[in-house]
Amino acid sequence: MRIDAHMHMNFRNISPQNIIDYLDQNEFESCWLMTWEEEKHGKWYYEHLCVEDVYEAYSLFPTRIVPMYAPDPNCEEAPQKLIDWYQRGIRGCAELKVTLNWQSEKVSRLLSVVSDLKIPLVFHMEGFSEKLESMPSDSTLEKLFLRMIEDHRLSGVPRKLCTILSRYCESVMAWRKDHMVFPGYLLDFASLESVLCQYPSIAFIGHGPLFWKHITSEKSKNHPYQTGEIDQEGLVCHLLRNYPNLYADISAPSGYNALDRDHAFARRFLTEFDHKLLFGTDNYFMGHERLLKSLGLSQETFGRIMGANAREILAPADIFQKAAN
Ligand SMILES: [Zn+2]
Repeated sequence: MRIDAHMHMNFRNISPQNIIDYLDQNEFESCWLMTWEEEKHGKWYYEHLCVEDVYEAYSLFPTRIVPMYAPDPNCEEAPQKLIDWYQRGIRGCAELKVTLNWQSEKVSRLLSVVSDLKIPLVFHMEGFSEKLESMPSDSTLEKLFLRMIEDHRLSGVPRKLCTILSRYCESVMAWRKDHMVFPGYLLDFASLESVLCQYPSIAFIGHGPLFWKHITSEKSKNHPYQTGEIDQEGLVCHLLRNYPNLYADISAPSGYNALDRDHAFARRFLTEFDHKLLFGTDNYFMGHERLLKSLGLSQETFGRIMGANAREILAPADIFQKAAN
């Protein structure tokens, strides 16, 4: 039983057939396929990954794809949309990646439905940024500017630099007005802790740069991908230890980096939390499995992370769905 518990379609040029080829080549039984839906998206590299595409892939390969959908909580109908798609076969609320906070009323309305349906929730945490972000634009000049930003630093233009330049240059001032400081995705750990208490029956599965940054207590405030040995464990260890309904997936560069920076720490971490961690790639095929294999984990720990945990997390939803039908 091997499962990639974090994948997307049409993200990083992956088609449904590419997914099946990847699963076959790597002997995965199935994958969790997730959406990304934000009405007012907060990053210029936002990609709308819609539920219709996930569902179409699931219809083509129903035994290989576990379809998931996280409607944007900003949409009034989000809770009903989740219920409607659940009735068509959606088996998780994922990936929740929105510029809202856990305490938002809109998020609470969605969490109540997730709790009622007994489905898991995968969420992405990412920090607030001092850099100015741009919305996608049709302007050639803006596209060129964005390309320059992208080539230089993926995260945008420092707000301070724009503030200084805008004193001397009207066009920078105008540009700055139309651009936002990225407010972060679900970035508050204190509120996360409160929803972990409030919804004990939801399996919350965390990932993302901010989540994995806190595998250790902070060393540098600004950089999301920290490096070097881990002296002191961080909030993520505390929360995983204290909340039975918190899990994590090791996908994407953020999960990889958190485990690769200190192998001795990673071995201890993976062993202690082997019943709470899920293998996933997020379409970043950078060798997550190779890394796990290099750490000398027990057969049992490795097996749990590579699929057994994902299967167990889905079990309550499966039982509930069968009983309802
Ligand atoms: Zn993702």
